Amino acid sequence: MSTAIAVLNAGSSSVKFSVFVESGAELRLQVRGQIEGLFTRPRFVAKAADGSLMAEKDWGDSQSLGHDGALDHLIEFLRERGGGLTLAGVGHRVVHGGLEYAQPVRVDAQVLTALEKYVPLAPLHQPHNLAPIRRLLERSPGLPQVACFDTAFHRTNSELAQMFGLPHAMFEQGVRRYGFHGLSYEYIASVLPSHSPRAASGRTIVLHLGNGASMCALHGGRSVASTMGFTAVDGLMMGTRTGNLDPGVLLYLIDQRGMDARAIEKLIYNQSGLLGVSGVSSDMRTLLDSPEPRARLAVDLYCYRIRRELGSLAAVLGGVDAVVFTAGIGENSPLIRARVLDDAAWLGVERDADANDAGGPQLTKASSRVLGLVLPTNEELMIAEHTRSVIRMH
Ligand code: AMP
Repeated sequence: MSTAIAVLNAGSSSVKFSVFVESGAELRLQVRGQIEGLFTRPRFVAKAADGSLMAEKDWGDSQSLGHDGALDHLIEFLRERGGGLTLAGVGHRVVHGGLEYAQPVRVDAQVLTALEKYVPLAPLHQPHNLAPIRRLLERSPGLPQVACFDTAFHRTNSELAQMFGLPHAMFEQGVRRYGFHGLSYEYIASVLPSHSPRAASGRTIVLHLGNGASMCALHGGRSVASTMGFTAVDGLMMGTRTGNLDPGVLLYLIDQRGMDARAIEKLIYNQSGLLGVSGVSSDMRTLLDSPEPRARLAVDLYCYRIRRELGSLAAVLGGVDAVVFTAGIGENSPLIRARVLDDAAWLGVERDADANDAGGPQLTKASSRVLGLVLPTNEELMIAEHTRSVIRMH
């Protein structure tokens, strides 16, 4: 029998999962999959590590499974098809650890209550992240569960980097820049030494360019600053999120357009970004293939905003030794990488066109003052590793 760690990433309408088994000191991916359309048309798919289909199920239109139903189905699947796996624990991606949690934590009823305090700080994510933890505590109270936070990696940021220009009491009450995508940055920081000792010990800007997008300044592998702030809507323009926005725009929308908080939430989280600007799609691949002028405009704005934020993080670091691309767009689009690298030529970045087109990992010429890399992120493995070490400590 093999010892396994399950990883859950529960969102508003889907639960993604993966299972890792111990193989010596390593954790090896065994199964990954998801249940999506939880409240509309639930669909389950599970694939082996080689990508081959293990199981699928479609519940049909107008069905609702909810988070609890999804979790029950997953447990059943692992029991029947897990091939004798013994679950040593479950790791969860949890968006907000607030000021309290700078490290992953084993969750019991008390910790769960503490994490519920952060629901108002991340209402679109935190409740969904916590739902499977609660269900598992009820169903399998003896099964160790570990929460891993998207904010934790950025707790090393200085107070200055965390502050807004608001009355200081608000900072002390928690209105500050937290930063997100921390598990992705932590994974990249963990593999940097094997790619470039200089990038690992020096000043490196990581670009996590997926549907959600942010950038993080690392110094010696620790987070110094990032583009996301109090919420994950700040910073870069994303698939459907605005990125940073003059707060005066929100006042105007409230006063002059009669919009309320929910309407504004929908606007800045779901209707803006690449989708809002292009009017075509939130998906970068679709936009790059589209002949629509506004699709091009959306891509132009996307790259322009990266250019500005890259300059800002370079200034914070006082120079740059390396830039690293990761996530869906960062890993797969030579075109966007080329534009970002060329926009950063003033920093001493010399793109190697052939290497970039071939997918790296090195994207820059040997003569380039700044090293460019593309590295696939692996947040699930990071969560599995944290989960294993937290369980071992107990
Ligand atoms: P993620 O959230 O990390 O899964 O990233 C999703 C984003 O990556 C979407 O905007 C996709 O269009 C984009 N993406 C994936 N593959 C490519 C590709 N080959 N070229 C451009 N964008 C891509």
